[in-house]
Amino acid sequence: MNYIGIDIGSTCAKTVVLNEKKEIIREFVQPTGWSSVDTAEEIRQKLELSGINLSDDSSCCVATGYGRISVPYADKTVTEITCHALGAVHLFQQPDLTVIDIGGQDTKIIQIEQGFVKDFIMNDKCAAGTGRFLDVMAGVLEVKVQDLGHLDSLSKKRVEISSTCTVFAESEVISQLSMGTDKCDIIAGIHRSVAHRVTGLAHRIGVVPALVMTGGVAQNEGVVKALQNELGCEIHRSPLTQYNGALGAALYAYQAASRRA
Ligand code: ADP
Repeated sequence: MNYIGIDIGSTCAKTVVLNEKKEIIREFVQPTGWSSVDTAEEIRQKLELSGINLSDDSSCCVATGYGRISVPYADKTVTEITCHALGAVHLFQQPDLTVIDIGGQDTKIIQIEQGFVKDFIMNDKCAAGTGRFLDVMAGVLEVKVQDLGHLDSLSKKRVEISSTCTVFAESEVISQLSMGTDKCDIIAGIHRSVAHRVTGLAHRIGVVPALVMTGGVAQNEGVVKALQNELGCEIHRSPLTQYNGALGAALYAYQAASRRA
């Protein structure tokens, strides 16, 4: 049996395949693009090319993420919160966790107690404090989003980006650039602005150890460092951080198939 988790996020679509031993045998990420229906079809073709048949009993597929309803071949759709919690407990092997998940267009803080979701809070109304904010700023600065973390580490001078609003912060960045401010210093300021916004959200729900970070933005060392400073505690990550939701969906598929058997 193959257990497939597909997380169609606002920005990136992630797929994880588990085997009978709950080992990851395949994982891949691709841009969600304009049509999550087309993305789901591309994923189906990739899976079938690697010998995974989605139309018989040799697989169980669970879809999550904002585009989960666009996966017609999924056996079940499950909310992101449930999948992120399942993924994080498995990845970090801890039953009590606070998960900070910063994705392309939303930020979620999930409290997990004894392996179950106790509470969560989500910002999906505003780009501030999400990957979208960083994507826009990287565009203005003409750098790759993947390079933001490294460029932050080269910062020598503290520059404040005081606005958390994407539109106003963009103007601030443009005016800093026109004053000749070093891009690396601006980037570090942008990361502190994201950390400030996410910390405000985290304090509304409360942060209990162990603290872990997931989602695509967790790959940005600069944001992680700024968040650690602002929250005053260590943040744990995994190399599979961006796959956490898809992993949770695959684990859900595993559990659902075991119940059926
Ligand atoms: P979603 O599930 O909402 O599509 P993800 O959790 O996949 O979001 O995260 C997407 C965001 O992660 C992007 O907006 C981008 O800012 C950030 N990101 C993606 N890859 C990287 C990377 N290699 N380094 C830093 N940031 C990244």
